[in-house]
Amino acid sequence: MNPYIESSIKSLAERNPAQSLFLQAVTEVFESLEPILAEIPDIKAHAILERVSEPERQIMFRVCWVDDQGNIQVNRGYRVGFSSALGPYKGGMRFHPTVRLDVVKFLAFEQIFKNALTGLGIGGGKGGSDFDPKGKSDGEIMRFCQAFMSELYHFLGESTDVPAGDIGVGAREIGYLFGQYKRLTKRFAQGVLTGKQVGLGGSLARKEATGFGAVYFAAEMLATREDSLEGKTCVVSGSGNVAIYCARKIHELGGKVVAMSDSSGSIHDPAGIDLDIVAALKEVERARIDQYSQRRRGSKFFAGERVWSFPCDLAFPCATQNELDLDDAKKLLDDGCFAVVEGANMPTTPEAIALLKEKNALFAPGKAANAGGVAVSALEMQQNAALQNWSFKQVDDRLKDIMATIHRDCTFYANKYKRPEDYVFGANVAGFLKTASAIQSYGVI
Ligand code: NDP
Repeated sequence: MNPYIESSIKSLAERNPAQSLFLQAVTEVFESLEPILAEIPDIKAHAILERVSEPERQIMFRVCWVDDQGNIQVNRGYRVGFSSALGPYKGGMRFHPTVRLDVVKFLAFEQIFKNALTGLGIGGGKGGSDFDPKGKSDGEIMRFCQAFMSELYHFLGESTDVPAGDIGVGAREIGYLFGQYKRLTKRFAQGVLTGKQVGLGGSLARKEATGFGAVYFAAEMLATREDSLEGKTCVVSGSGNVAIYCARKIHELGGKVVAMSDSSGSIHDPAGIDLDIVAALKEVERARIDQYSQRRRGSKFFAGERVWSFPCDLAFPCATQNELDLDDAKKLLDDGCFAVVEGANMPTTPEAIALLKEKNALFAPGKAANAGGVAVSALEMQQNAALQNWSFKQVDDRLKDIMATIHRDCTFYANKYKRPEDYVFGANVAGFLKTASAIQSYGVI
């Protein structure tokens, strides 16, 4: 390994003990940079690796709220502004009991390069809380969101930091957060949050953007092998925002999704998942996925099982980090799977990625394949700034173009450095070079 990369990772590990996810994300990016470090000595001279891996700011705060029984609850809130080199901090907020500083830092770090890939002038940030929305009433969700925003609002602004949703944070939560921001600041500042409902200044196609974008990226990848989604069997993990719209677009493009999941297990439906049922269960009723098998003849629920057990041509991990490991990759490959497309952030472990590459499977990393969500968030910011509302088709067409451009940039760098089809390498180099150049241009700040 290049000594500069090695010493940078070592120093980060010493200064961030017990942040294994953050170190995993940094190591993957830095290891991709070997060939460009040899070519561009300025990267070391300007301490770019040190500067890009230290967050500009990290905010942690207490969130107190009252549950329906009148008990006082205490959670922890986070917002990491990792890099504003290319624009205001931009990235979602995750409400899930597993949220720790390590999780938020890995997500914010990934977000820097993802956002750079979109070419839309947005920096990288992420936030969230260890609050668990599962089983909470609407009133509890609202009171938590209001308490969370009562501290966070000090740090937000259209040109400073613009949060959005992530796991556990959808349009309902964004509505409560925006309402509290408006109440505290007396400003109807639409551009301060994205993922809003359309009536509050949200963009059409934002809800669909991450899932649709991942499938547009998959279609671009398949086209390079003169193939398409037509007639392909697919599995999609999760059944949240990304998973549902990923599955919908697969169906629209002629593929068939036969398995989806949530944290309780997987549903298998050989005839193809009925997404209206999944959307009703998850978006309206907020029910568990096992209910699907009671509503759809021929389908079955497998408690505790993950979707990788079911044979497929393409796999789309769309739930959470490190959910597809080496054994899962072996099983997928043995069953004939030839492409993995990440809708989630860092869902595939490094060992699994290495095996997929070795076996010549196509692999699309999240920072490229799931960039459609943040790209449409940036389009939402543009619409808010211009007091405009674009049609679904206008936004979707832009999304398609952006995903094609990201695919082209990844392919350009992969080919330039003689690593054809290495999308991890291509995405890391393309995102890093844009960010590094901006950091260098500012001088030492
Ligand atoms: P949602 O909360 O809408 O859905 C998450 C889904 O993943 C649910 O089905 C959930 O099941 C499952 N899940 C979450 N955590 C775990 C876990 N620890 N183990 C097993 N299953 C789990 O989130 P999103 O769809 O918005 O996000 C999914 C992924 O996509 C995340 O990695 C996120 O960072 C990434 N992403 C999201 C974007 C967006 O626009 N929303 C943009 C880019 C990336 P259950 O309900 O049982 O917990």
